Amino acid sequence: MQKYDVIVVGAGPAGSMAAMKAAQGGAKTLLLERAELPRYKLCGGGVANWIMRKFEIPKDVIERVYKNIVTYIPPNYEGQVFPMPGLGYFGVCRDKFDHCLTKMAIEAGAEFKERINIRDVVMEEGYVKGVVSSDGQVFRGDVIIGCDGAHSIVAKKSGFWKVWFDQKGENWRDHMWFCVGVEVKMDKKTIDERFEDNYLFFTGREVAPLAYGWLFPKRETVSVGLGSFLFSMNKKPWSYMDYFLNKHPVLPKLLKGGEIVLRRGAWLPIRHCQRPSYGNGVLFAGDSAGMVSPISGEGIYYAVRAGLEAIMFGRFGY
Ligand SMILES: Cc1cc2nc3c(=O)[nH]c(=O)nc-3n(C[C@H](O)[C@H](O)[C@H](O)COP(=O)(O)OP(=O)(O)OC[C@H]3O[C@@H](n4cnc5c(N)ncnc54)[C@H](O)[C@@H]3O)c2cc1C
Repeated sequence: MQKYDVIVVGAGPAGSMAAMKAAQGGAKTLLLERAELPRYKLCGGGVANWIMRKFEIPKDVIERVYKNIVTYIPPNYEGQVFPMPGLGYFGVCRDKFDHCLTKMAIEAGAEFKERINIRDVVMEEGYVKGVVSSDGQVFRGDVIIGCDGAHSIVAKKSGFWKVWFDQKGENWRDHMWFCVGVEVKMDKKTIDERFEDNYLFFTGREVAPLAYGWLFPKRETVSVGLGSFLFSMNKKPWSYMDYFLNKHPVLPKLLKGGEIVLRRGAWLPIRHCQRPSYGNGVLFAGDSAGMVSPISGEGIYYAVRAGLEAIMFGRFGY
């Protein structure tokens, strides 16, 4: 049996920040992650400049700095350029970026265990007292922070899905966009020439009804994706991607010569922040409690802020 002051489940941006803050305050902190880091996560990888100002993110983690958003809207699909104020927006690959935040938590003193898949919580007299991994290990803690993303097992097993969804006659999927994305490999020179310091948004019923598609150029890859509520789609999500990549009036030309090296699907909580986001012995930060901008789908900034503030909000006395 292993006992901690704070146990954080999930080493995404929310979890690493919560673990860092708890460890900095002197708490005996354990950060648990089911994957082995660095791990790929489907994401545009657009990061708010607040994060770059707050932390010293190594230069090699920052793939690109965006100074403009370019939108392509039907019916004429002319690229409209919107310059961004100040430092702009930053492009990262999530494997390196998330790993960098986890290293910050470890440097602050958090114990990190990877390849630990949490499948249940320990409930005693109405309090969450710990978590259980799929290989039967039990980790006990005074406070459990669920940062295990959109499909949070900590939230589900500690009864929050009943409050957030079932009791309102809704279900988990009603709150999610389903996203599909591809990574397209291109040479650096072509990416520089075609995209300069822009990232791109695409709207239209054929691309993503009720939402949008995106393209974030990185150094040697381009991340292309789209997402929306499944109820708004009248064909399979990958059929929208097929249209986007091959028949859209603009995108195929921009990707000419590129090679798709990865395809993934992922859920994005989009409707609103779930309330309450805490209970007896447990609280949530990031996607686990829907902390994503319902307009843009941006979630990294909110996950980082929520992770940092979970510790202050919890007033654990550390
Ligand atoms: C297609 C797509 C594109 C996006 N693009 C952007 C963008 O450009 N900019 C932006 O700001 N946001 C974007 N987002 C949103 C952003 O990815 C999330 O809001 C952000 O990752 C939330 O961070 P988090 O730490 O809460 O969760 P996550 O980053 O999802 O991290 C959760 C972690 O928990 C681990 N985990 C899950 N279950 C368990 C378990 N049972 N046991 C142990 N560990 C577990 C996972 O492996 C993962 O490492 C995008 C999302 C999607 C789906």
